[in-house]
Amino acid sequence: MSFSANNRSHTLSQLSQQKIDLLIIGGGITGAGIALDAALRGWKVAVIEKKDFSSGTSSRSTKLIHGGLRYLKQFELKLVHETGTERAVIHHNAPHLVKPEDMLLPIVEGGTLGKVGTSIALWVYDKLAGVKDEEAFETLSKEETLKAEPLLSETGLKGGALYTEYRTDDARLTLEVLKSAIQKGANAVNYAEVTDLLYHNDKSIRGVVVQDSIQGKTYEIEADVIVNAAGPWVDFLRQKDHSLMGKRLHITKGVHIVVEYNRLPLAQSMYFDVKDGRMIFAVPRMDKVYIGTTDTNYSGDLHEPDVTKADIDYLLNAANHMFPSAQLQASDIESTWSGVRPLIHEDGKSPSELSRKDEIFISESGLISIAGGKLTGFRKMAERITNLVGEKLSEKGCITQIPACATENHVLTGGDFPSEGEISPFIKQMYQKYGKLEPSMKHISYLVHSYGTQTDEILQNALLYLEQGLEKPTAILKGELMFTLEKECVANISDFLVRRTGKLYFNRSSIPEILPTVTEICAAYLGWDEAEKNKQVAAFQQLFTQAVTWK
Ligand code: FAD
Repeated sequence: MSFSANNRSHTLSQLSQQKIDLLIIGGGITGAGIALDAALRGWKVAVIEKKDFSSGTSSRSTKLIHGGLRYLKQFELKLVHETGTERAVIHHNAPHLVKPEDMLLPIVEGGTLGKVGTSIALWVYDKLAGVKDEEAFETLSKEETLKAEPLLSETGLKGGALYTEYRTDDARLTLEVLKSAIQKGANAVNYAEVTDLLYHNDKSIRGVVVQDSIQGKTYEIEADVIVNAAGPWVDFLRQKDHSLMGKRLHITKGVHIVVEYNRLPLAQSMYFDVKDGRMIFAVPRMDKVYIGTTDTNYSGDLHEPDVTKADIDYLLNAANHMFPSAQLQASDIESTWSGVRPLIHEDGKSPSELSRKDEIFISESGLISIAGGKLTGFRKMAERITNLVGEKLSEKGCITQIPACATENHVLTGGDFPSEGEISPFIKQMYQKYGKLEPSMKHISYLVHSYGTQTDEILQNALLYLEQGLEKPTAILKGELMFTLEKECVANISDFLVRRTGKLYFNRSSIPEILPTVTEICAAYLGWDEAEKNKQVAAFQQLFTQAVTWK
């Protein structure tokens, strides 16, 4: 059965009629990673997500697959080693989505690290991450640094260092991990909230109550093991389980702003000092550059954390201090996003000092909760949790042997290129094969870097729509949208424009023109009447406005 929103009710109803091995609450990168690992071990798995997949923190990060250079300062050597080495693994399994990125770190008077400190830190970083020789860091003189990035302020500049990180699309990575799990037999349902937990004699956990927020129906689903991977909402479920004691979450907020590339034409990504002792990134992506992140304590709405004028001023001041000639203004901001970090509270520590390590809690009822961690470390976090799930299944006599983790070499959907070197030839091949659609090379490149080898299927369908009489750009748009409706469980306009394509952040100005077509195609496929159509458009318009609103 295809991974389409039209199959959600059927999937929920099937799940409620049989006991499964593992039920995962939360369809962010953590839940998706666990689902893939468990499905590859041959277990019957389901992911239940209350909004859209990745709509929590996993579509609101800095979109870097990185070891976290700054964690060296906190002596988090194990974390840096794990996330650093994971970069190459995830890159190998999804080379179109996780790409090496040159990162320039300017060394400035009074900055976080001096010249010697930077060299030592990067040497340790490279060693811990086991980087290949061609990706080893390089130190630069002041002149070399200015040559590498002419936009940098000369004042206080002492030199720089060039090293390699990896860039990704967090929401698409989550989706491809989930789709890979589904290919191996897992089930996943979005817009389905776990509203209650079910127990045997009030003691051991046996299942969950799920509320389908689209159809309004309620289901009970039973599982041998239940994992709470609800990110910032982990403690709400621990509370329901009466096991919220000891360590708790500490929520901090991170905001990013997006400007036109022409307004900050960086030669490469930058990781630079802010006056308050923190460091932030500026990352070019297609014809935009995004800058972030802030890191402040937060206690507001977790679903749509706000952006304040203070967040905007902080990021603009930081960028203008480092790149004074750009003179960025609030009016240059084309879009923003704001996300919350589910960190583990430590008394007396500021948001930036809190550890990014993951933490596992096993309650008396048997509920396994996982919180903290990084997007980058999702595979190793999943391995730890899935090993625990195996132990539980074995204790319960459901399995006799715990199969080994098999995600290290499991190529994700769309990532099946013979090698990374094959991506550029594949883009050219798609450009030639679908010449009839007259796509721009830029658009083909966007599709391939979003969907990988699945681009072929998208354009094949677009060709059919062209033959049916659609204009070329509309045929390409419909090819992409239908692919996400039929194979990526898109259930509304925002799923497509925010998370499957990232258009709200990186191509917001294109939206007014395509919105009517997107709405009509969604309505026809998902069976919306006029009232539902208006409701869905209004819901998206709110996000569209919110992306450039701050108070
Ligand atoms: P989430 O993505 O939040 O997923 C949890 C899901 O559970 C949500 O989708 C939610 O809707 C669902 N849920 C909650 N309650 C229920 C319920 N009752 N029933 C059903 N579903 C439920 N990491 C990196 O490696 N690199 C970076 O560059 C990076 N940058 C970051 C920048 C910022 C600003 C932030 C905030 C984080 C960043 N991170 C980064 C960290 C990374 O994004 C997170 O560690 C990761 O996304 C957490 O994923 P998750 O699946 O645990 O949580």
